[in-house]
Parts: sequence; structure tokens; C-alpha cells
Amino acid sequence: MKGRIVTGDRITGKLHLGHYVGSLKNRVELQNQYETYLILADVQALTTHFENPELIKQNLRNVALDYLSAGINPEQATIFIQSLIPEIAELTTYFSMFVTVNSLRHNPTIKAEAKERGFQDMYYGFLGYPVSQTADIAFCKATLVPVGEDQLPHIEQSRKIVRRFNQLYKPVLVEPEPLIGEIPRLVGLDGNHKMSKSLGNAIYLDSSEEEVREKIKKATTDPARIHKTDVGHPEICPVYAYHRAFRQEGSDEIFESCKKGQIGCMECKGKVTERINDLLEPMRERRIVYQNDPKRVDEILMSGTEKARLVAKETMREIREAMSMDYF
Ligand code: SF4
Repeated sequence: MKGRIVTGDRITGKLHLGHYVGSLKNRVELQNQYETYLILADVQALTTHFENPELIKQNLRNVALDYLSAGINPEQATIFIQSLIPEIAELTTYFSMFVTVNSLRHNPTIKAEAKERGFQDMYYGFLGYPVSQTADIAFCKATLVPVGEDQLPHIEQSRKIVRRFNQLYKPVLVEPEPLIGEIPRLVGLDGNHKMSKSLGNAIYLDSSEEEVREKIKKATTDPARIHKTDVGHPEICPVYAYHRAFRQEGSDEIFESCKKGQIGCMECKGKVTERINDLLEPMRERRIVYQNDPKRVDEILMSGTEKARLVAKETMREIREAMSMDYF
């Protein structure tokens, strides 16, 4: 193993193809090379969903099923529930003592997210999200965090917090490095925004064949194409974006055929539907196995959480000692 990584998702809904392309696919590969910790971030989900905690409960197992059906191997990866590791909350509190409000306010990712969500004023928990994220990374001494370019400010802030802790007290924590990968953004079925649950433009990983077919049938295409022979602009068409993301033999020809008006949108959609269903089919098979054995899924979550908790307790023992808070 090349090191330890930590990554995961805020539990705000089940996962879709955008998540698969942007992170899950990569995690399935990374688990073979890195000791992998996967966090089901229910506490961080509260930063934006504190009024609907029941939604988090509903989706926790859905996301676990998404992980397992996408190919996360619970023998290799440790899947754990954030709120069941109280040491993460404790560490967040300690870090909060020396992180300034201004440094959080100026975090570009926080600024962008607050704008996107229309926050006039930021909740304390939302503003402190990078601090809590640092605790997620630091408690298990992760050496690497897989991120896209847009998440780099968060990691930079985490590195600063860890460095500051090590300077203030004792060097017991590990300064994480970003594992920068190309994190492709998948456009939604509307062709205007990235795929997102809240915009209703997503294809979920648990979709049936029929659901995929229906959604692709209704997907936006290049509006300039009325007839099959009309010259197309595949670069603005979400259907072509899916051809490209889920590449298969013939994907390149689609681009040319669309440009030359040699393929109809129905035929093109049929091909991409087939490709997406081919991708989802093994996931459906794995999902059924786990869905039919909910006890097994609970055991995976409990044993992953137990393992993460042991690591957290050991780190916290060192932290309390470093901070002279080991009273007895
Ligand atoms: S042929 Fe395919 S890529 Fe071209 S506009 Fe139609 S659906 Fe989009």
C-alpha cells in the first residue's frame, strides 16, 4: 500500500452517474493501491440539511449500497459513519480554537458554495466545514486526500491547521497531501448544469434499465437538429457527453456522424442507453445481493466504524497528551 487515503460523501441523497464519474470510479481503483477510509459524512450533511435529518437517515444505507454495488470492497476499504466517531467532533473543537473566522470566510470553496446556495449569512457549522473536514483527515492520519482542483483550498487549509497544531503542541499529526486527479464533471440531462439531485437532471446508480431508457429519451439534445441530416453540435449535447464519459467502441464516430448529420438523435440515444445499462448492470447485480442481506450491510458499517473508532481513540490519546490534557 502506497499510503492511507480518506474520502467520502456528505449523505444528502443517493449517488448518481455524476458521482460515479467524478469520484466513485476512481475510489474503486484507489482501494487496490491505498489503505482506504470512506466516510459517510452525516454530520457534514447537517451543515446544509439540519432541518431534514430524517433525509440523512433514509440515505445512509442507500449511499453504502451505492459504494458496495459500484465495487468498493469492504475487505479492502473501511466504510464508517462520521457521527459515530465522537473523536472527530472533539478534534474539530480543538482545531476551532486556533482557526480564524477570516481564514474560513476567505476560503474560495466556502465562498463559492455559499454563493451557490444563496446564503446571505453563513451558519457557524457551514463556515466551519473545512475545520471538521480537517478532523476527518487528521483523526486517521491520512497521508493523501483525493481531490479535484476546486477542492484544493480545503486541503490547503487542512494542511495549515495540522501544521499549526504540530507547531503549537507536538508533531503528532500528519500533514495530508492532495492526490490531484482529473475530476470530470458530468453534465445533467438538461444539458445546462452539472448532474445534480437537486436539479432533477440525474441518472441514479440504482436506476433500472427502463428508468435509464426513459431518462435518456427525454434528455436535451442539440436544438439545431430537427432532421437527421441537420448538422449537429455534439460538444453542447449531454448525450454526447455521456458517450465520451462512458467511452466504448464507436464513441469517436458519434462525434463525426453528428457533425455531418449522418446519425439521428434517437439512434444516438439508443447507443448511449445501451452503454449506460451495460455499466450499471454489474452494479445492479451486486446491489441485489446486498439489498437482500441488510444485516450484512449493517455489519460492514458497524465493523468499519469500529475499526475507524479504534484508530481515532489512539490518535486522540496522542493529541490529548500533546495538549497536556491527559489528566489521569
Ligand atoms: S446525434 Fe447524438 S450527439 Fe448529436 S445532437 Fe443528437 S443526441 Fe446529441
